[in-house]
Amino acid sequence: MYLMAVRESLQKVRGHWVERVARELARGEGVRAVFVEQLERFYEMLEQTVVTGDTAWLDPILYDWGRSSTETNLEKGDYDVSFVMNRMITLTIEVFREKLPKDDSLEAIAAVVPILSHSLNVVTRYEMESRVAHISNELSRVQKRMQELDRSKSNFISVAAHELKTPLTLIEGYTSMMMDIVQRTTKDEQLESMLQGVSNGIRRLRRIIDDMIDVSLIDNNLLAINLQPVWISHLIKLLKIELKDAIAERGQTFVVQEFEGNNTMIYGDSERLFQALHNVATNAIKYTPDKGTITLTGRLLPGFVEITITDTGIGISPEHQTGIFEKFGQLGRTDLHSSGRTKFKGGGPGLGLPIAKGILEAHGGNIWVESEGYDEVKLPGSTFHIMLPIQSEASDPQVTELFKKQEKETKDTEISGKENTPVNNSAA
Ligand code: ADP
Repeated sequence: MYLMAVRESLQKVRGHWVERVARELARGEGVRAVFVEQLERFYEMLEQTVVTGDTAWLDPILYDWGRSSTETNLEKGDYDVSFVMNRMITLTIEVFREKLPKDDSLEAIAAVVPILSHSLNVVTRYEMESRVAHISNELSRVQKRMQELDRSKSNFISVAAHELKTPLTLIEGYTSMMMDIVQRTTKDEQLESMLQGVSNGIRRLRRIIDDMIDVSLIDNNLLAINLQPVWISHLIKLLKIELKDAIAERGQTFVVQEFEGNNTMIYGDSERLFQALHNVATNAIKYTPDKGTITLTGRLLPGFVEITITDTGIGISPEHQTGIFEKFGQLGRTDLHSSGRTKFKGGGPGLGLPIAKGILEAHGGNIWVESEGYDEVKLPGSTFHIMLPIQSEASDPQVTELFKKQEKETKDTEISGKENTPVNNSAA
């Protein structure tokens, strides 16, 4: 009986309600016509809900409203159905108060307001869901774009590097032919030293291009590691020879301390490991003033060999200690991009450490630096730690077999040698 009365009241003010809400909340003729239709539908469902007590009647239209925000609305962040709903509650109360006798109006308000606030909740939830969906769409779009950019950047580097190599080889060939001719015919010293300059330039350019190619290989997980028997002591010996001139030129001292594990055979890519050590050691020379000391040592750890390269140089501030292993980590410092690979603070394209890191990670190892900080006067120095896992298999299983056999033979001779000793003793 009571519900029927409320329904009657609702029907009585329906026209006013629609007109009032539409006038207040929809601007522009076109918009208003559509809105009026929607409001009629909503009001009808509201009546049904009052009579049946079941809010499910309202769900479809609330769903439509909550999801109605368009992409542009969401981008501008200006669409707000919950605002419209909120305002609708106030307007409903106003219309009921104005158009119904006091008792009827109180009854109608008591019946309708809980339904409207439920509707507000529902609409807000749908609206939030749309926003979240929109934002996560945006996010994955941006992520995809970033990945594409990163890929095209490293593709560009790799293509450019390969393209640069061809003309470089031509220049290299012609220069060496010219050098030959000069040496055989005119023997002009000035010309010869000029050609030597060109040739040095070419060599440096080639190294930079090779580094660019390596970085793009590492970036794309394409760095092929060929595990072969390696003795770290051999790599260190080679390093010493290779760096001899630079060390002498800078009046520095290169100290190599023997350590347990440096004569153990492990499997690794000797060329790549040499490259990594070389990059770290040339940095040590480069960032240490004349007459400084570079010390290489290491230790055997369970499953790993650790090599450390310590210098008495300018050190690295804590905030740069991870960034230097990222490619072009130093690109911002154009002031450092001078010349010379081993000149004091010579600078460079900032690829040496990222390559070293890529090589070590491809071996399942790691590299990091320890330094008290950057100080060109106090010279706190830096220590680079290189962790190399001891691999027990070569890339080629036949190589592993071969070396296992050799190892076994060496052990057998050692054992039989020992067994022979007491026999010889008793015979004596
Ligand atoms: P590059 O030397 O070409 O700039 P690297 O990748 O080899 O690039 O090194 C990155 C940066 O790390 C260097 O520019 C330098 O600032 C810093 N760095 C590397 N090794 C040392 C070191 N032993 N002492 C001080 N700074 C270093």
